[in-house]
Amino acid sequence: MSLISIRNLEVRHGLLKAVRDVSFDLAKGDVLALVGANGAGKTTLLRSIAGAHLPASGRILLGDEDLASVPSHKRIAMGIALVPEGRKLFSQMTVEENLLLGKTAGRQGNWTIDRVFDAFPNLVPRRHAKTGHLSGGEQQATAIGRALMSNPDILLLDEVSLGLSPLVVDRVYAQLQSLLTSGTTIVLVEQDLGRAMAVANRVMCMLEGRIVLDKPTRGVTRDQITEAYFGLHRTNTGRAAS
Ligand code: ATP
Repeated sequence: MSLISIRNLEVRHGLLKAVRDVSFDLAKGDVLALVGANGAGKTTLLRSIAGAHLPASGRILLGDEDLASVPSHKRIAMGIALVPEGRKLFSQMTVEENLLLGKTAGRQGNWTIDRVFDAFPNLVPRRHAKTGHLSGGEQQATAIGRALMSNPDILLLDEVSLGLSPLVVDRVYAQLQSLLTSGTTIVLVEQDLGRAMAVANRVMCMLEGRIVLDKPTRGVTRDQITEAYFGLHRTNTGRAAS
């Protein structure tokens, strides 16, 4: 059975349709790389799954439950955690305080503050530092750690490597690796296709709000993704083909 099902989702910013007729299912343990050019609708899709942006139409089902009227904080308690683009930490609070916020969801599970510090040892000496004083890599680790503290079933990661040096991105991905084997379902928005493909079992490409490619990573070539990314396979009507 699907863990989460997205059905004919349309999400708008004013008149702009940022997500158009998007449908897909995720099963437990799926690691989905969601790729697409700037403005393709990836962030809007993740935010609507997390309840931060309400869709204009369509449905998001967690198991059998329709999330339409479920606010974002309740979705965290139901197991959906978003690590937003730009991290959105409370800069005047310490690393530990930010991490403990994740616990307020009240979900039971293996993720404790000690386990987060084990997974992100670079945070240990920064435990009592305000997050506004941290490096980008430390902030990203705190943002991921905060999401993990809610013991999510579904972790939505929006451009975790944005603004980080390649060395720091290597570290963040090394730390993510343990997560990938833990059975958590992950949606990973990532500009670096190589990195995303290395960890995901499925890749989905968005173009102008629509899904134009959805395949197992093992069954897809880089060229196919590039074509989908740039919309090189268009029909005569000008719409991107799926
Ligand atoms: P990026 O990689 O640049 O983050 P994205 O694929 O995540 O892009 P979105 O950020 O979801 O795409 O944007 C989808 C569309 O919605 C774009 O045309 C964008 O300009 C528009 N958009 C996004 N946020 C807003 C907003 N707050 N108000 C108005 N339009 C918005």
